[in-house]
Amino acid sequence: MSDATATGPTEVPDRTMGTYVRAEPLFVRGAGAWLVDDAGERYLDLISGIGASSLGHGHARLGARIAEQAAALGHVSNLYRHAPGEELSRRLTERCRMDAVFFSNSGSEANETALKIARKVQVLRGQPERQSFVALTGGFHGRTTGALAVTAKESYREPFGALLDATFVDPENTAGLCAALGAEPAALILEPIQGEGGVRELSTGFLQAARAACDATGTVLIHDEVQCGSGRTGHFLAGDVYRARPDVVTLAKAAGAGVPFAATLARGEAADALVPGDHGSTYGGGTLACQAALTVLDELDTGLQERVVDLGDALEVGLDALASAHPGPVLQRRGRGLIQGLAMRRHDDAARAVHALAHPAAGPPVLACTASGGVLRLLPPYVLTDEDLAVALSQLDAALVSLNRDQP
Ligand code: PMP
Repeated sequence: MSDATATGPTEVPDRTMGTYVRAEPLFVRGAGAWLVDDAGERYLDLISGIGASSLGHGHARLGARIAEQAAALGHVSNLYRHAPGEELSRRLTERCRMDAVFFSNSGSEANETALKIARKVQVLRGQPERQSFVALTGGFHGRTTGALAVTAKESYREPFGALLDATFVDPENTAGLCAALGAEPAALILEPIQGEGGVRELSTGFLQAARAACDATGTVLIHDEVQCGSGRTGHFLAGDVYRARPDVVTLAKAAGAGVPFAATLARGEAADALVPGDHGSTYGGGTLACQAALTVLDELDTGLQERVVDLGDALEVGLDALASAHPGPVLQRRGRGLIQGLAMRRHDDAARAVHALAHPAAGPPVLACTASGGVLRLLPPYVLTDEDLAVALSQLDAALVSLNRDQP
């Protein structure tokens, strides 16, 4: 059987709803940071399933643990206890210095949970009128209606009518933030490093000011670390880089190594806010997803976290060199560790660079994507090798040359 037939008959039209404009390759397998399509072409994957496939592709230990778990005990729901879930809740809360965790299946769901916790905290304090939310311009929190309400991009929200009440404040506008929190919302939600919004790192000063303003106004502080968390910056939580501690933090993507898994971690009164009947998920924290997340923690504990630090440093040095070598198209490098972006002077150059990387004149194609504001975004898997990094940088160099804009 050829790879093409293994994926199903190609003459039957794809009936998937048109929410995505999909790229051409039909991937059939992968190993490490590399994907292989049905024609046998190899692609260097610097996007890792939008930051989810942290352990890369075809990870033997991940595959074995999921297979063993599936053979021993598959889905039992949250009506019953199981060992992987209890082990993971202990390890993840300890790692994040949080008191409790709720498991779900996607970043959007993790954020929905966080928004519900915040409202419930206000209800328990006797302030049920505190129902609105404050979020940041450039922030992205998901596509479900609650998470969408606090997502800044108007074109994402506008077609869907009335959503939860949210106010948006520009990052780094501390006075604006204090004014918005003065209106006594339920919570402030922010990404310490905005991913979709353009790989934009918030400053330590702003993050700490946000913490202080939340304390002063009784606002629950939610950090959305769906994209920047789970070790990607070199720290398990990006908030730790800036010494900013939220009341609630959400994880997904890299935390599950490509298996649908998400976690909403909370401390203090936020950890105890939800009681039986308040919230639920059929699949959340299932045995297979918990094994995936435990594998990620095990790998991080046995050298992978240090490797991400080194790899992130090397990637930053390489991207800084490319930014200096190509001042025509590239405005600046942004990001930290393995969440990196090249902000382009002309916004359409980001998409042109992604296309050039995928269709190189020589060498292997490379997968990257864009982020808002004309940013070429890289979210490589944590298992990138030194050779992979060298290939990535040389293909990026060629792609920037092909833009033919080397005069600023
Ligand atoms: N929050 C952030 C910061 C994200 O980057 C994303 C996904 N790009 C989400 C939430 C939503 O996650 P999901 O697509 O898993 O629902």
